[in-house]
Amino acid sequence: MALDTIDLIAAVPGTLPPLMDQFRRPITYLRISVTDRCNLRCVYCMPEEGLPWIQKAEILTFEEIERIVEAGAAIGVRSIRLTGGEPLIRRDLPKLVRMLAAIPGIDDIALSTNGMMLADQVDALVDAGLRRVNISLDTLREDRFFAIARRPGLDRVLAGIDAALRAGLEPLKINCVVMRGRNDDELAKLAALTRERAIFVRFIELMPVEDNLDLQRDAYVSADEMLARIGEIGELVPVDGPQGNGPARYFAFRGARGAVGVISPLSHDYCERCNRVRLSADGRLRLCLFGDQHIDLRTPVRAGASRDDLMEIFRGSMLIKPERHHLRLGEQSSRMRAFSEIGG
Ligand code: SAM
Ligand code: SF4
Repeated sequence: MALDTIDLIAAVPGTLPPLMDQFRRPITYLRISVTDRCNLRCVYCMPEEGLPWIQKAEILTFEEIERIVEAGAAIGVRSIRLTGGEPLIRRDLPKLVRMLAAIPGIDDIALSTNGMMLADQVDALVDAGLRRVNISLDTLREDRFFAIARRPGLDRVLAGIDAALRAGLEPLKINCVVMRGRNDDELAKLAALTRERAIFVRFIELMPVEDNLDLQRDAYVSADEMLARIGEIGELVPVDGPQGNGPARYFAFRGARGAVGVISPLSHDYCERCNRVRLSADGRLRLCLFGDQHIDLRTPVRAGASRDDLMEIFRGSMLIKPERHHLRLGEQSSRMRAFSEIGG
C-alpha cells in the first residue's frame, strides 16, 4: 500500500497525519542518544579500548535535537528516551530535558542510564521534567561489577537507584543483561528486589554485536530459561507492565510491589509492535536497532531545514524502516552504538 494511502487512513481531523511506517505501525517513540561515550566498558557492549569516538563537532547540539524533536512531535512522536553511551556524562543534560519537555505533544521523557552519576543529578533532572528512568544493574557483587563493567562503581549505582526512588521516579525499571557463568546465578536475588519495592527488574537476553563475539556462544540465556529459574523461588503470575508492555513481558510474585520483566529480542522478537526510531548522537535517524538503515538529519538541520522539511524527511524515512530484524546468535550485526535502543 502506498504511504499516501496509509496517511489518509490514519489522518486525524484537524491534525497532521501521524507518522506510520509501511507496515502500518504508528511511530510514537524517539530514542535519542546524546553521546556515544561512556564511563563504563560493559563486556557485552563495548571493547575496553579502541572505539572511534564521534568528534565533538559532529555531535548534535541541544538546539539541533530540539528542532528534530519539534518536527517529530508535530507528526505524532509522544515519548522521548534519552540514552547513550552514558547520557549523564553529557554536560547540562537537565537543560535538554527542560527544552524537550516544553515541546507541545511531548508527554513523556525518560532516561536510560548506568546510574553512576545519577544520585548527583536526579533532582535537577526531575525538576526539568524527567518522569521515568531505567537503570542498568547486572550484579549485586562489586567483584562481578568490576568484571562486567571493567570499572568499579556498584556503590554509586546503588546510590543512584536509592536517589531515583527518593526523587519519586517510581516505578523504577532496572535492566539486567543475563550472562551464563557471569551473573546468571544472581537471577533470583535480583528478582527478589521486586517483592518489597516498586521496582521492575527486566532481564535482557544477551544480544550479539560485533564487540561481544566471544561471549555469544556460551553466555546466552534465553528468557524462558530465566523465567523458569526465577520461578523456582516463587510462583510468577503474568501482569501488565508499568507503562504497558513495550518490548518486555512482565510477571510478579504474589503480593510483590514490583514485577520481573524479560526482554527477549532473540527468542521472541517484538518487531510486530515496534513503534520506535532512534536518533544517533551524530544526527542519524536509525530505523531499526539491528539494521544499518538510517537517514542523515544533521546535514539538513545544519543547512537550515524548516520544521516542514524535517517532517517530510521523517515521513520519507518510513520507506526504509524494515518489517523486522533478522538477528540470530552468532551473526554479526551493526556496532554496539545501536544498542541503546534496548534500555526502554
Ligand atoms: N549507558 C546506559 C545504560 O547502560 O543503561 C544507556 C545505554 S545502554 C547501551 C542501554 C541498555 O542496553 C542497557 O540496559 C544495557 O544493559 C543494554 N545492552 C547493551 N548491550 C547489550 C547487549 N549486547 N545485549 C543486551 N543488552 C545490552
Ligand atoms: Fe556504557 Fe551502558 Fe554500554 Fe555499559 S551498557 S558500556 S554503561 S553504554
